[in-house]
Amino acid sequence: MPPQKTTRPRKDEDRTRALFNAFQEAILIHDPETGAILDANARACSLFGYAQEELLALPMGNLSVGLAPYTQEDALAWIRKAAQGSPQTFEWLAHDCKGRIFWVEMNLHLATLDGAPRILSTVRDIRDRKRLESDHKTRLKRAEAQNVVFLALAEAGSNFQRALDLIARYLAADIGDLAVVELMDDRGRLFPHAVDQPYMDGTELLPNISALNTATPLDSIPARVAASGTPLRLEDSKGARILESLRPEFHPFLRRYNAHSILAVPLRSQGVTLGTLTLAKGSASRPYSEEDQTMLQNLADRAGLALTNAKLFSENLQQAEQLRRANVELEARVAARTAELEQLNQRLKQMAIEDALTGLANRRRFNEVMDEEIRRARRGKKLFTLLMCDVDFFKRYNDHYGHQGGDDCLRAVGEIMREVFRRAGELPVRYGGEEFAVILPGVNQESGLKAAEKLLKALAERAIPHARSDAAAHVSLSIGLISARVEQERDADWFIARADAALYQSKEDGRNRATAARM
Ligand code: GH3
Ligand code: MG
Ligand code: MG
Repeated sequence: MPPQKTTRPRKDEDRTRALFNAFQEAILIHDPETGAILDANARACSLFGYAQEELLALPMGNLSVGLAPYTQEDALAWIRKAAQGSPQTFEWLAHDCKGRIFWVEMNLHLATLDGAPRILSTVRDIRDRKRLESDHKTRLKRAEAQNVVFLALAEAGSNFQRALDLIARYLAADIGDLAVVELMDDRGRLFPHAVDQPYMDGTELLPNISALNTATPLDSIPARVAASGTPLRLEDSKGARILESLRPEFHPFLRRYNAHSILAVPLRSQGVTLGTLTLAKGSASRPYSEEDQTMLQNLADRAGLALTNAKLFSENLQQAEQLRRANVELEARVAARTAELEQLNQRLKQMAIEDALTGLANRRRFNEVMDEEIRRARRGKKLFTLLMCDVDFFKRYNDHYGHQGGDDCLRAVGEIMREVFRRAGELPVRYGGEEFAVILPGVNQESGLKAAEKLLKALAERAIPHARSDAAAHVSLSIGLISARVEQERDADWFIARADAALYQSKEDGRNRATAARM
């Protein structure tokens, strides 16, 4: 029966195809060598969103997300293993005609179809299972994630940007696919400061966040959350509203992941809105829930506090540094001023006890030292010697050489006195006018007279001309000396009176000489 012979195989084929298409699992038939798609059932076409001819014409790689380990090469490796006779089962990130990503479970095994070896591949949609799994994982990770965020924030210390980056990274890794931290400037405008996306390492889907120097659009979700201070949650399976709700720079990410859910909460500290935390999720996981929102707001409150602390801390560091610099400057100024004052003080002290013309001790210093030395000598019952000296014919000197010449002369006499009386304890003094005195503690009369002679000799040697003197050709002194033990009733006046008397005697006797007081 020839008709039967011709219809029988066709019937078989129709039956097989009907069965093939009625199958609830998606089935693909691959060439074991090239991986080429040779056949696909109706369910496979609807799963991937292609008409059958389109699907058969596709390179196998187009059904995978294309990211390792879900590339064409990876798929071929699985097919090769199955072709060696051992069936393979694995989970796969698939990719539909619209570029959306979804999870499937693949089953590959070798079969002989129409006498040729083929790879029979069943593809099961496991989106629901994956969602449940990720929910479960999310719950487990959440408590841990919060702790990690808090620890990381504590560690970030004063580094504000690092704190922001840590917040974004942990949020992206543990709660969402895309995490954006936006901060408000002092004019109330919102700018992105940290962005993270855990699945896309190495791919350049998102812009360099530091290049985003334009404010976040006012009608975007983050700007609305910042303005109102209340969280916002948006779910949209088609994704159009999701795109509108974030700035355009994020759209490549949102499209690629078919983002269907967004959650944004205000980032606050002490009642002030600092900015926002925004999370977006791809369709591979379930949308954000009320619980997610509460959790994120909790975290944002803690993060807000940590950010304020980081800012305060770094400001304090800056202020402390400024203060330290100011202090160093102040200390230097104070030190310079103190040194100046010290010098001035020293100078004033010196001026108080020094004669301005000759630089010798002045009358005031003479009085102090006299009292002091007499008291000391009295205690030790020691000898004390005082010389009083007066320039001879000084009135005439002034008259002849002028007052300026007289001053120069007194200065020269002072110099000579300083040279002669330089031993410890000896004190030459300008007593007043053209009168000088020398305090010689512990010196007896004989030594005192020797010292006076030495002074007269030094003056003679210096030979300052005195044209009008009757006593010598040079400037000379008349000297009176008193040398005595300091007994109870003997004070400064007692010694001065006796030295004066002896001086008067020298004048009487012809000047330019020294006379010891008679006791
Ligand atoms: P005698 O030998 O008796 O001491 O005579 P004299 O002229 O030195 O004595 P007198 O006391 O009469 O004169 C002292 C003079 O010294 C008077 C005064 O003008 C002068 N004289 C006092 N102090 C200064 C001074 O600081 N500079 C100058 N140039 N002259 C002074
Ligand atoms: Mg005199
Ligand atoms: Mg005189």
